[in-house]
Amino acid sequence: MTRKILATLRTLMSVPHDNPKLLKAQYLALSRQLPLMYLVLLLNMWALAFTHLAVAPFWLTLVIPLVMTVICVARACMWLRSTRRLPPADAQILASLRRTNQLVPIIAGAFTAWSLALYPYGDAYSQSHVAFFMGITVIVCIFCMMHLRPAALTTTLVVNVAFVIFFASTHNPAFIATAVNVLLVSLAMLVILQHHYRDFTHLVNVQAQTEQLSNENLRLANQDSLTGLPNRRQFFTTLERAMSQAITGQKGLAVGILDLDGFKPVNDLYGHSVGDKILVMVGQRLRQLVGATVHVARLGGDEFALVLEGGLDDEDLHAFGKTLCEQLHVEFLLVDVPIQIGATLGIATFPQHAASAMELFEYADYALYQGKHHNPGAMCLFSASHREQLQSDGITEQALRRAVLDKEFFVLFQPILDSCSRETVAFEALARWDSPELGLVSPARFIPIAERIGLINRLTLPLLRQALDMARSWPEGIRLSFNLSVHDCGAHDSVQSIVEVINASGFNPAYLDLEITETVVMQDIPQVQWAIRRFRQLGCGISLDDFGTGYSSLSQLHALALTKLKIDRRFVTDIHLNPASYKIVKSLVALSHDMELECVVEGVETLDELKALRSLGCTQVQGFFFSPPVAFADTLVWLAQAEQRQG
Ligand code: C2E
Ligand code: MG
Ligand code: MG
Repeated sequence: MTRKILATLRTLMSVPHDNPKLLKAQYLALSRQLPLMYLVLLLNMWALAFTHLAVAPFWLTLVIPLVMTVICVARACMWLRSTRRLPPADAQILASLRRTNQLVPIIAGAFTAWSLALYPYGDAYSQSHVAFFMGITVIVCIFCMMHLRPAALTTTLVVNVAFVIFFASTHNPAFIATAVNVLLVSLAMLVILQHHYRDFTHLVNVQAQTEQLSNENLRLANQDSLTGLPNRRQFFTTLERAMSQAITGQKGLAVGILDLDGFKPVNDLYGHSVGDKILVMVGQRLRQLVGATVHVARLGGDEFALVLEGGLDDEDLHAFGKTLCEQLHVEFLLVDVPIQIGATLGIATFPQHAASAMELFEYADYALYQGKHHNPGAMCLFSASHREQLQSDGITEQALRRAVLDKEFFVLFQPILDSCSRETVAFEALARWDSPELGLVSPARFIPIAERIGLINRLTLPLLRQALDMARSWPEGIRLSFNLSVHDCGAHDSVQSIVEVINASGFNPAYLDLEITETVVMQDIPQVQWAIRRFRQLGCGISLDDFGTGYSSLSQLHALALTKLKIDRRFVTDIHLNPASYKIVKSLVALSHDMELECVVEGVETLDELKALRSLGCTQVQGFFFSPPVAFADTLVWLAQAEQRQG
């Protein structure tokens, strides 16, 4: 029981040292209220000193009040100063509140003793003034110290005990009644204080919880839950902040966007949990690689972004990009076989190219897009030529949106020949755009834009219809090769439309080869597998175009029901002079034999190249050496001449 009382007393008389939020709220409330308390205290004190000036000794009416004034003004100034500053550290607040608690009985005792010391000198009015001073001042003090319960309690205790004992001893009924009144009012005040203090504590705790909750929400809203990295939203906030700092500080800034190469097939092959782990590990590697001036974020999927502060020059950026891509190329040890992916990074810089945060982001994205197309697995820095290309892409895009697809687009045909007999075995249909605004536009320029703006499917169908229609006029046995885009295989609907066009054409699908590039394979293996199966069911062949330029692994290729590989022309140029190209083509040809696939070599331009290819056992060839892409009418002439040649 006694222990319980003691514990309650200890709680009542101590500061809540384990609750920093409450301590801070108390400190702030006191710093507003205590200067007021000291002001009232001093005014009341000087009023009492004044009524006793003529009767009480000099040291009681002037010296002591002066000393008290100095002390009170010093304390009031201390609290006033704290209202103008940021709240101090938790430990300092605790020390300050403890100090106040220790000072309160001394100050309360001093004022009480001083006022009671005046009592014997005055007449009945002055003595009543002493009682009034004590009664009214204690109430003000309780009010002002409400947020620091021990201080309010101590003041009440000190003043009331002295008041009751002193005035009860005067045996004057009026003073005894006053003492009882003051005691009762003080007790009522204490009850109110207790309620108020409880409500105050509750309010502060609720506020603290709400703040914690909203901080947590803010953190979650800005964090990528898988990798723990800042998310897209946080990235843009960081970018905007870094940009305004770069503008004011006249410093450089760079943005990098990073896209993993070969992540989707890994995800499809090993499952999403492995894919997720790789993303987490990529996040970790990125964090380890960058310093304090580089902010990493995950934009979503397998795309990450970087804000690089501190004005790095192009050389630094190239070195940084190289290390980053190399590190992400290092194998991930997660399942029984090591997994290898790559990363392409696009970087744009301020103020060299971009003028705003959004422009910086767009240009980095464009650099990434260029990197992905021309040099995957490496860093691509946005340059002046990219800017020109971006502008010209914009013009092309506008013209493409306005183009009449059926009229402006047509196909040319390039023969594919048997390398030994030089017989024409097939023609590859190659799209051309005769734009009224831009003139003749190369497919290398308009196909990527049509893909980006979602126009490619609408372009593929009329071109395929046209090619099939023309191919029907060729002698039986001549094959047609037709290029499909990533997006043509990416959805069931578009595959179905292609199947319908083939079925309606009257051309025997057994003589049709559909060409897909490695980028298609990298997208979504199950979907591509489905599309290929669907085309194979019709009897079409499937060629893998530009083979050797992408990232697909043998196992990925094996998973697809291919019929042909087309070796990219970059390995063919000067093959007879370049041992590296020679070796690459040799191994690619061997691979096609091993996989029991036919093989076509693209881009043969000279007889020397043809001879080298023949010595490697290449059976089918295509290139300017034989013929450039020609109009349909010329294919008929070509075939007729070929017949004559053989005849
Ligand atoms: P591709 O399918 O690899 O086509 C071969 C490209 O190499 C053609 O360029 C062709 O004109 C060119 N070429 C052929 N022989 C030689 C040679 O000896 N030397 C050189 N330097 N080049 C040669 P083109 O017609 O400009 O087509 C570029 C790319 O555009 C094609 O590459 C293909 O990926 C895409 N493409 C063309 N037509 C279509 C189409 O109808 N649909 C889709 N989705 N893509 C198409
Ligand atoms: Mg092709
Ligand atoms: Mg090709």
